[in-house]
Amino acid sequence: MSRISLTGVSKRFGKVDAVRSVELTVEEGEFCCFVGPSGCGKSTLLRLIAGLEDLSAGEIRINDRRVDHLPPAARGVAMVFQSYALYPHMTVYQNMAFGLQQAGLGQAAIHERIAATAKMLQIETLLERLPKQLSGGQRQRVAIGRAIVRQPGVFLFDEPLSNLDAALRQQTRIEIARLHQRLGSTMIYVTHDQTEAMTLANKIVVLRDGSVEQVGDPMTLYHHPANQFVAGFIGSPPMNFLAARLAAAVPGRAECRLAAGETLHAGVDAQQLPANSAVTLGIRPEHVAIGEPGPHAGLIMQAALCERLGDHSLVLLTAPGSDVELTAKVTPGDEPAMDRQVGVRLPAEHCHLFDASGLALSRMVST
Ligand code: ATP
Repeated sequence: MSRISLTGVSKRFGKVDAVRSVELTVEEGEFCCFVGPSGCGKSTLLRLIAGLEDLSAGEIRINDRRVDHLPPAARGVAMVFQSYALYPHMTVYQNMAFGLQQAGLGQAAIHERIAATAKMLQIETLLERLPKQLSGGQRQRVAIGRAIVRQPGVFLFDEPLSNLDAALRQQTRIEIARLHQRLGSTMIYVTHDQTEAMTLANKIVVLRDGSVEQVGDPMTLYHHPANQFVAGFIGSPPMNFLAARLAAAVPGRAECRLAAGETLHAGVDAQQLPANSAVTLGIRPEHVAIGEPGPHAGLIMQAALCERLGDHSLVLLTAPGSDVELTAKVTPGDEPAMDRQVGVRLPAEHCHLFDASGLALSRMVST
């Protein structure tokens, strides 16, 4: 098991700052996911740790040993790629054995490690096949097996499930989670899929434009996003956002006014902002409460669309004559009639508030 620390890590490709001054520690045995939109620098950061790219600035340490000047093979890491990267002319067995032979391990020890790993991954019957004789899911398992037999201190996964169909992706995701439980190794996993990150990680690093936006465990990121970008990226369907102005602020409560004049409250501290500041109010779909229209209803909206997904339904709410739109997550059977007016309440304790720069104002509730 290994601990990884990055200090001031940057990578420049010509004029592109792919990774900017990243400070990060991944503790021993942690499952850390790098997430963010396409081009945010996730893969580059992983490749810097693997030694497949040179740093432009900064330091990388594994177990307090500085490794950024070392070749990949000397870092004690093993990488699993989206493209599997198996040798096409070698059998599964030979693919798994290759790195161990290069490292000078004896035939008996190689055989023992491959047999144990093949059993763990249920690929014993595939050992004599060539990669082209395997399905995508089987190839990915072999690629993972090839990493496991090396017994690395750190596993690095670069979008390993992207080439698999939805059902296989879910199954393989569970297998990777089990593998982590079983091996207890430090794992770093790149994905653009926030669901994958939420279900696998104990630490998530959200990246944007080469910079770290927030680091935290999945529930902290979900309930206490540091800014509007993280709030919109983590959670599916995403958090609803409403543009507003700050009307008044007392400790633990802010009064906000929408463009159409409605007043909403958020359980946050906003006294540091000048009155009438532009703010964005955020609320997750599961906290949007639909009821009868009336004087205490909050917002008067219309149910425009309903998606029934089995265990829950998503209702799109619109406000005629304004661009305010909200998605509400409701229990099946509680869907409102379409194209009828409804009253919509946004409970203050579940509302987030972001200033004009997107920074979150601190909330009063713990979840
Ligand atoms: P994706 O999810 O699409 O794979 P990513 O978050 O992994 O994206 P990176 O592949 O790390 O992003 O790329 C980060 C930035 O660096 C992008 O702007 C990309 O175009 C640029 N980049 C990556 N590799 C190179 C390279 N070898 N030469 C020049 N620019 C590069």
